[in-house]
Amino acid sequence: MKIKLLNRGDNSLKFEISETTPVFVNSLRRVIMQKIPILSMTSVDFIDNTSALYDEIIAHRLGLLPLVFDSKKFVLTSDCKCEGKGCSSCQVKFVLKKKGPCIVYAKDMKSTDPAVKCVDGDVVIVKLLDGQALDLEGTATIGFAENHAKWQSAIVGYSLYPVLKIDKKQLKDAKVCIDSCPLGLITADLKLKDPYSCNLCGSCSEACPPGVVTIEGDSSRVIFNIESVSGLSPDVIVREAKDILASHVGEFEEALKKELK
Ligand SMILES: [Zn+2]
Repeated sequence: MKIKLLNRGDNSLKFEISETTPVFVNSLRRVIMQKIPILSMTSVDFIDNTSALYDEIIAHRLGLLPLVFDSKKFVLTSDCKCEGKGCSSCQVKFVLKKKGPCIVYAKDMKSTDPAVKCVDGDVVIVKLLDGQALDLEGTATIGFAENHAKWQSAIVGYSLYPVLKIDKKQLKDAKVCIDSCPLGLITADLKLKDPYSCNLCGSCSEACPPGVVTIEGDSSRVIFNIESVSGLSPDVIVREAKDILASHVGEFEEALKKELK
């Protein structure tokens, strides 16, 4: 198996995995979608809320704010040494106290752990008019996207590497083939100039006589796309997904040893 980095954005990663199968890549995708531990607000205690929004709406907004956190530092409350009571290893408290007139931003929340903060501090939580106030205490804990979307680590998907085959002897009008690609990826000498941008739409194949032009995905070469929607970087998410997959294989190996001696 080989990996080739194609693009690295601020919050995204695109790479090609070759000598693999869609089955393996899909396992990686599903782990990233559902199994990465993420820190998010799980409960909010309101001391005062005279804003125009109900407590529930504000609590919902706080729950959906992505938080920057150290993935090695925090554990699930149920697995923590505090036995579910709540401590600095399994939860972070936030305090928010504002009086109107003002706009309350995500950055106004003060955390008990200086390393934990909102990814985007400029997200508006609520607008307070003169005489209105908001005073609350929130608790963030680790969870998984399989239980709630607020714990989702990233948006992730993959596509197969395109293979364009053209029967040049049968192709009467090359211009039709070249012009058929909506992304303009077919060159004058009938090759794909940027295969990683092709989305296998099949327009080239449809525009030409049946069987003359075919475009298919190579299932041993997969283009993997990941865009983080949490406080973890795409690199950290992919590495954690690898560890989780490896631990599942380890569990399977142990179970096999016990049952098939
Ligand atoms: Zn704890």
